[in-house]
Amino acid sequence: MDIFLIAGVLLAAAVLYLLFRPGETGAWAVVTIDGQETARYPLSQDITVTLGDADYNILMISDHAASITDANCGDHTCVHTGAVRRDGEAIVCLPHRLIVRIEGGETPSVDGMAG
Ligand SMILES: [Zn+2]
Repeated sequence: MDIFLIAGVLLAAAVLYLLFRPGETGAWAVVTIDGQETARYPLSQDITVTLGDADYNILMISDHAASITDANCGDHTCVHTGAVRRDGEAIVCLPHRLIVRIEGGETPSVDGMAG
């Protein structure tokens, strides 16, 4: 009777599947500072957070897109990047060694549907 072993394997597979595929609908804004992932936020939820302390970037998630609305870095390239929403897109703030990368989303097949 190996039913418990089989059930355990299936459960583990299901957990791994969920871990590596965070759902079809939601994409993530993954925050990396100095090469370390520090946070991830679902694009499905509108929030505004301050990343960092003395070196800060204001991350805003709105309308399923992530953008840096303010920062005290020198060049403000991150602010000027605007909003990102597609899997693989990123906002980079070189002075702060900060990257906000979009992960795990489905690329919309129809552009301009929203507007
Ligand atoms: Zn910046």
